[in-house]
Amino acid sequence: MSVETKLVVCPHCHKANRVPVDKLAAGGNCGAMSEAQISQWLQGQAG
Ligand SMILES: [Zn+2]
Repeated sequence: MSVETKLVVCPHCHKANRVPVDKLAAGGNCGAMSEAQISQWLQGQAG
């Protein structure tokens, strides 16, 4: 059973990630960065 995916471009590293559509609501994950890197980037945006 295949899962439908969409290409989502990471706003941080501009890498295209294949994200399952059922994960889109959660924002998806960037395959190139760890969660720590993403939250670090989000903190930078807020500041
Ligand atoms: Zn990224």
